[in-house]
Amino acid sequence: MKTIVLKFGGTSVGSIERISAVAKIIREAKKEAFPIVVVSAMSGETDRLINLANEIHENPPKREFDALISTGEKVSAALLAMSLNKIDVPSKSYSAAQISMRTTSQFSKAKIINIDFTRIEEAIQNNFVPVITGFQGITDDGDVTTLGRGGSDTTAVALAAAMKSLRCDIYTDVDGIYTTDPNVVPEAKKLDRITMEEMLELSGQGAKVMQVRAVEFANKYKVPVRVLSSFTSGAGTLISLEEPDMDTMEKAVVSGIAFQKDQSKFTFQGVKDSPGIASSILGPIAAEGIEVDVIIQNISNDGKTDFTFTVSSTDRKTVEAICNDQLQDLDYDNLLIDNNVGKVSIVGVGMRTHAGIASRAFQALARASINISMISTSEIKITLVINVDDVNNAVQVLHSEFELEK
Ligand code: ADP
Ligand code: ASP
Ligand code: MG
Repeated sequence: MKTIVLKFGGTSVGSIERISAVAKIIREAKKEAFPIVVVSAMSGETDRLINLANEIHENPPKREFDALISTGEKVSAALLAMSLNKIDVPSKSYSAAQISMRTTSQFSKAKIINIDFTRIEEAIQNNFVPVITGFQGITDDGDVTTLGRGGSDTTAVALAAAMKSLRCDIYTDVDGIYTTDPNVVPEAKKLDRITMEEMLELSGQGAKVMQVRAVEFANKYKVPVRVLSSFTSGAGTLISLEEPDMDTMEKAVVSGIAFQKDQSKFTFQGVKDSPGIASSILGPIAAEGIEVDVIIQNISNDGKTDFTFTVSSTDRKTVEAICNDQLQDLDYDNLLIDNNVGKVSIVGVGMRTHAGIASRAFQALARASINISMISTSEIKITLVINVDDVNNAVQVLHSEFELEK
């Protein structure tokens, strides 16, 4: 039987009224293909649980932390299944444990390894719409894990890949993917399509409309994904699996701007410049599953250099602990930690064939008196590290510099 995965985010299931509205969307979708539903916790719930954990323990045990913050999804899944039954759409909710959604054992950053879809198939055969908790998994030992903030997107795309579904529809509070966050730049333009490659960069650089791991899954298993609103009707944005044609590439040099505010910058000043320095600093951090982003090593002076990198603020405490414990023997003068940093990234496949995008961006920011502290580039992306207070302004300035509203 043909299936379609429908994922509903926090605001889409944020109240009893919203859950009832979502049930009707599912009933409609059932006319196209058999729905497999994935839900997030009701909006604000995961934050509430995280705050509770932090109130009770300054560094909560990771296993218990995940056991706690995964509970919100059980509530919304069961409520939505009830709501579906009420409108005569037979439905059953399932937790990650009930469908053996196996993950690695890195709590709060777990990766999906395998899904046993016997129970999902059984439900479908008996005409029950399965409503599955997003964001959570279980280890081989049966412990509950979570997939990182925004992880329900990944649950949904992974299920669509495993079930070879027609498509994965990500229902959220905006009506598609925009040139940048429409809540920051009201002039942002909705895109009808975006390439997988661009979406990978936008999500990777902080556009939280989809978790980057979800986009990676979609790319790897060639799952067509659509992002659309559960509040208003409309076709949303299709993340296209096809290569863009040259016409659109020539037209849109920059397709979007992403940003991230919650960043921490670590600088080791006066590190001895010898082979293996980067790996001795970054190795232990990578071993914790922490993603290190912009990395800069300065030209050395007297055999010493400065080594700087950024991580997400959620990883700050762990990185600090690594610096104090595992990097004790590292030879350096000072360690500076700056928590007031943010990142802005310009993304576009068209940048590949156009020179001068970076200098245009630098000039526009200079005119707005925004200071750039780090720069990193790839073929289709330029990332700038700036003061966190300048992020919104920088996004606006760059959005209008590249005329993305047009
Ligand atoms: P959900 O709870 O449905 O998963 P999220 O809050 O995780 O929703 O993601 C949707 C939000 O992503 C939007 O409200 C918007 O503020 C933000 N966002 C960031 N970048 C973009 C973008 N380029 N296009 C659309 N939304 C974006
Ligand atoms: N509820 C989780 C979170 O707030 C997962 C998700 O929304 O996708 O991060
Ligand atoms: Mg989300």
